[in-house]
Amino acid sequence: MLIKGVVFRLDSDLPSEAKYLLEDFRLAVNNAVRAGLQARVTSRNALSGIAYKDFRQEHPMMYAQHLVSAFAVAGGVLKNYRRRIRKGVACKVPYVKRLMMKAENQAYKLGRESGTIDLPIRAGCHVKLKLVVSQYHRKYLDDTTLSLGSLTLLPDRVIVAFRKGAPASYTPESVLSLDTNERSLDGVFASIHSGTAVTVKAEFPDIAIIQQRHHDRRRRLQKKKAHDRRTSRRLCRREGTRERHRIEHRLHQVADSVLSFAESKKSAVVLEDLTGIRFRRGKDMNRRLSLWPRRKLHSIIEYKAQWRGIPVVKVDPRYSSRKCPICGEIQDSRMGSEFACECGWHLDRHINASINLLQTAISNGMAGGLRFDPGAFQHDVMMILYDPVKGARSEPNGTSCDCQVT
Ligand SMILES: [Zn+2]
Repeated sequence: MLIKGVVFRLDSDLPSEAKYLLEDFRLAVNNAVRAGLQARVTSRNALSGIAYKDFRQEHPMMYAQHLVSAFAVAGGVLKNYRRRIRKGVACKVPYVKRLMMKAENQAYKLGRESGTIDLPIRAGCHVKLKLVVSQYHRKYLDDTTLSLGSLTLLPDRVIVAFRKGAPASYTPESVLSLDTNERSLDGVFASIHSGTAVTVKAEFPDIAIIQQRHHDRRRRLQKKKAHDRRTSRRLCRREGTRERHRIEHRLHQVADSVLSFAESKKSAVVLEDLTGIRFRRGKDMNRRLSLWPRRKLHSIIEYKAQWRGIPVVKVDPRYSSRKCPICGEIQDSRMGSEFACECGWHLDRHINASINLLQTAISNGMAGGLRFDPGAFQHDVMMILYDPVKGARSEPNGTSCDCQVT
């Protein structure tokens, strides 16, 4: 089952009954957290078993479903806390400060046409919340194959979970192998039937620029506010949130255009598995840009692909940047922008890495019967999958692509 959370703004301020409900809900969650810590339990059922009666007395008017959902939220908080303790991370006893509440799908009604939510507060008292509905929201509201999951209510917005069964992915007719770099995705696009292959590129240079800029800004803040740790921390956190939003926005655009291309060509997407890669601590960490945007890009591509039924293959990236795809020789270290081997093979370093990823996918039988001859592919043709200046590609069918001679 796939779940997609869609954020809706509220058309007007939250009615006061709903505000009280948010506060009651938070109180209930925090009480349940305390009860759970005392009794050393974390599951919703266990919490409900030990605390339901007392809670019913403390919150006599609260809708029973909300109370159960408060136990579920508290269970999640306790599980996170326990995981941190197990990992040895120093942390405070959990206390929920943010106003929020969660309602399971039986505990609210969503009018899909009108865009209104009917939320029960207590017996005989419901509130109606009018949502701001855009074209983007319509896509989810009008799609009747999507069922409704939980609702998360926040003071200024709601998040509705839409659910659907994972669609079967198509049988690939081509393979799009991508090497993920700080400023671009570089790779090859190879057709299974014709055996032709060209290079592809999706550039996102502004992500590294944004990261660098926010990094510098945080440094300056830390220096300037060195006498006031609390303010410094608050401002840095704000910088971090802004940075994340700006970067994620761009990553979504990159992922969308890459996947639209893959879908139109019925491609399987090959990516490197980034989970094992880590920088050494210390100097490396400061000087290099973090891996976070690349990991985030992969996770966005993966869940969007799953939602759209596009097959994605992850392969071990070991030696992908140092291996020669022709003779299999492994070079000692990374070189400049071009990979060159004694056997005479030379190619852009990133494209070369993507060929190695493709070959790993083929040798593991994950590339749908593709035969690929690196000697025969057209280095000089490049397809641009995403251009930050123009935004997404204008022709998603890919028949009249931007071809560029390099
Ligand atoms: Zn070689």
